Amino acid sequence: MDETLRRQYLAAMGIQGWVSRRPEDPKGGTPPPADPLLEEARDAETQPIADGQSGDEVKLPVGSQEKTAALDWHALRRRVLSCTACDLCETRTQAVFGVGYEDADLLIVGEAPGADEDRQGEPFVGRAGQLLNAMLKAIGLRREQVYIANILKCRPPGNRDPRPEEALRCEPFLMRQIELISPRVMLSVGRISAQHLLKTDTPVGRLRGRIHQIGDSRIPLVVTYHPAYLLRSPEQKAKAWQDLLLVRATLREREA
Ligand code: SF4
Repeated sequence: MDETLRRQYLAAMGIQGWVSRRPEDPKGGTPPPADPLLEEARDAETQPIADGQSGDEVKLPVGSQEKTAALDWHALRRRVLSCTACDLCETRTQAVFGVGYEDADLLIVGEAPGADEDRQGEPFVGRAGQLLNAMLKAIGLRREQVYIANILKCRPPGNRDPRPEEALRCEPFLMRQIELISPRVMLSVGRISAQHLLKTDTPVGRLRGRIHQIGDSRIPLVVTYHPAYLLRSPEQKAKAWQDLLLVRATLREREA
């Protein structure tokens, strides 16, 4: 990627400078040409593992496909938009199905619609959505090239955390979306998404920086912070950038 363009994207993410940690040539010669961004991704990939769960394979929930297995995109969308399987149907403005390219290589999974999303019917709009768009641009992707969905399709009142029974009721919809898209890589943004997908209560800080695997297809899954959290904690953006580089490197590996 053009260096000027890359710096513009990083600036859009709020990262003003990025220094490669590429080691000096021990022989003192000119180091071979390399992509410093890719090297940062490899750094992230080889970070020490805090809890010894590297390479964990998480099975998709047994039976989750049964209710949605035969649904194509159109039928699945209709089912979600009219769903009354949990109490959130009573307080939502509308269900938020998901948006993007249905054959995307990258599937992004967030938590649940917020007020803006509930109003507009699209995930990741508003300031958090703008930051997510900037994060995608930083690795050379446009929003239209990926698919974006949430664990929950309806907004929890007051933006409270999703309740376990709500996530369970809603799970078959996301699982069918994963099946239909069959992405090369998934990016889980935020605590709720990561902990639900990986069936763990481990904090995001210990789940990020490495590859997990989801389902029988062992789809690589990278965990990072939610854009809304990054807006509140900009000092964490450098770590999110490392996670994005890991996504990019994994996408390239899976293309090869
Ligand atoms: Fe149905 Fe999911 Fe909305 Fe609950 S959150 S009503 S399960 S679509």
